[in-house]
Amino acid sequence: MMIVDVTTHVLEAPLTIPFRWSFNRADIRQTVLVEITTDTGITGWGECFGPSRPIAAIIRSFKPILLGADALATELIWQTLYDRCRDQGQKGMPICAISGIDIALWDIKGKHFNAPVHQLMGGPLRTEVEAYATGMYRRDDGNPLEYLVEEALGYVAEGFRGVKLKIGFDVEGDVAIASAVRKAVGPDVKLMMDANHGYDVIDAIRMGRMVEDLDIRWFEEPVVPEDLAGYREVKAALKIPLSGGECDYTRYGFREILATRSMDIVQPDTCAAGGLSECKKIADMAVAHGIRYIPHVWGTGIGLSASMQLLAVLPHNPPGWNPTEPLLEFDRSEHPFRQAVLKQPLEHVKGIVQVPTGPGLGIEIDREGIRRFEVD
Ligand code: CA
Repeated sequence: MMIVDVTTHVLEAPLTIPFRWSFNRADIRQTVLVEITTDTGITGWGECFGPSRPIAAIIRSFKPILLGADALATELIWQTLYDRCRDQGQKGMPICAISGIDIALWDIKGKHFNAPVHQLMGGPLRTEVEAYATGMYRRDDGNPLEYLVEEALGYVAEGFRGVKLKIGFDVEGDVAIASAVRKAVGPDVKLMMDANHGYDVIDAIRMGRMVEDLDIRWFEEPVVPEDLAGYREVKAALKIPLSGGECDYTRYGFREILATRSMDIVQPDTCAAGGLSECKKIADMAVAHGIRYIPHVWGTGIGLSASMQLLAVLPHNPPGWNPTEPLLEFDRSEHPFRQAVLKQPLEHVKGIVQVPTGPGLGIEIDREGIRRFEVD
């Protein structure tokens, strides 16, 4: 089965209420989708996490390699693309581009064999995944102590058993908010905190020590991703598990993190770290190192369904009667086309999301929904 076309779709939409995290803000949501067409008429879809226009340009530059290639040869195509950009592109946008292509090829493979991706990858090990709510960003107006507590209580009322709070602004303010949220949601809700690498080692340790009695399930991206020695210093100083990895790439990048035990939980983004092919390898490497894997997820329904296919085949770690199950990061922040790209939205029921079981990614694309938000 031959690839006959590769199309990128850049989507954008303004937000009604812009939101901020420790180092940046969102006034719009944007993404790039990859559509790959084959000579049998089967079309596959993928998504890339990262700046959409430059990533779309990289994908278009790969077209001469992709056209005429065997669409089922996912390993060969991954290695060929990676070899082409290895010298200048071991991390970042070239890998995001490869990720979206790889996801689209797995969608094609599943449709060709009339099986969901997770079945072709040897699963499922699980048919549903517990989701936690990501949101709780800062707004331009209002008192975060009030609106973040209200937002957390809203997620709990929807049935989520876990919520993640954005920190990394200032230690005292962050501690006050984390304490208020824990008090409001009670002891039974999983509470995570994410600094988006907004602290240095000194402030990350100070922050962690001040909230050590709040039963924080993990402290995400305490320091910048380049500073793995900093991660290890924070990890050694705190009782709270450290997580990170949404800004890290491929088996080679994660080899460094895992071998140096810089994190307790790795969080590769399927749409950025190398796609389904690569993230399955990283997941197996994580098990071999005894380190948990909980994917980063922040895209549309296409990226979400790819993440669900991977979640369905993540190895049990450790094995046992009651193994620790991975969680789905379920972004609840405003996203005008998160579900508009799908004919049937991928939703949660009381904080649980079912793994899609249709062929490929298990979703049906809404082309009209895509057209409404397409800008390039
Ligand atoms: Ca994060």
